[in-house]
Amino acid sequence: MLVTTPGAWWRPASRRSRSLDGRSKATAPEAEHHPSVRSAAVSATIAVTGVTKSFGDLAALAPINLDVAGGEIVTVLGPSGSGKTTLLRIVGGLDEPSSGSVTVDGASPHVARAAKRIGFVPQSPALLPWRTVGANAKLLLDVNRKHGGAHARRASVVELLAEVGLDGFADAYPHELSGGMQQRVALVRAMALGAPLLLMDEPFAALDEITRADMRHLLARLCEQLATTVLFVTHSIAESVFISDRVVVLSARPGRVVGIEAIDLPRPRHAELEDDPAFFAIETRLRGLLHAGAGR
Ligand code: ADP
Ligand code: MG
Repeated sequence: MLVTTPGAWWRPASRRSRSLDGRSKATAPEAEHHPSVRSAAVSATIAVTGVTKSFGDLAALAPINLDVAGGEIVTVLGPSGSGKTTLLRIVGGLDEPSSGSVTVDGASPHVARAAKRIGFVPQSPALLPWRTVGANAKLLLDVNRKHGGAHARRASVVELLAEVGLDGFADAYPHELSGGMQQRVALVRAMALGAPLLLMDEPFAALDEITRADMRHLLARLCEQLATTVLFVTHSIAESVFISDRVVVLSARPGRVVGIEAIDLPRPRHAELEDDPAFFAIETRLRGLLHAGAGR
């Protein structure tokens, strides 16, 4: 586990408190003693209002409304083609909605993206084959330093690599790593930025089932230490339940919200939780929502 220093971007899991509506909020008590830290938001809020998206005649998203609180871990769960990537790209300022609006901390996603306030973990790790693991993990930091956009709070790449079990691999090259290890480097690369919003697009989709389970356990642990807001996209029910504070279920195309489920399971989440009847019960409810959204 990493040591949390005052004002750090990491916090012990116990600091993720839960309110009655099932939302988990970043309380950052250290900020109370450090006014300068309080003014620098470590988690972002998202407001998605009436967002639709069409590609020519193809309607990808029906109107979507979704609010995400600062520090919340929210998963968008939906079948393939339901518009999950489209929604994530719009929230990340990489694409425009056809109608409706999105704000990140009250501003447009473009502003948030330009200010390096959004970290993105893509479906494939997209590591540069000629750079070492350490250099790949530092890639975004190097780019941002060149553009003068350095963030004040971030965990070091060395710490993060150790946290994901890659401390001995900083000098290795991507081709020497398994798929799961490469995706862990991609997680570190995004997290090292210390951005207040992390967007993740099915980062474990290409992994085998066992590695995938390990990765969701790792991600839950990392997210419990993060003070950032996380918007995660997946078609895996188990992944959504294990990681999230809330799961938003999308229908088949055009994607609309068929239900939102608060995941009222204790944190920190441990792997054994997946054998718990409470876990199965939530999985069953989510499966029901997915089937309803698919018109079955
Ligand atoms: P998901 O991520 O849930 O699998 P996507 O958001 O990728 O779904 O896609 C939703 C729908 O929009 C799909 O039918 C897809 O083919 C279509 N689509 C996505 N991006 C584009 C694009 N740039 N041009 C045309 N169609 C697109
Ligand atoms: Mg997708």
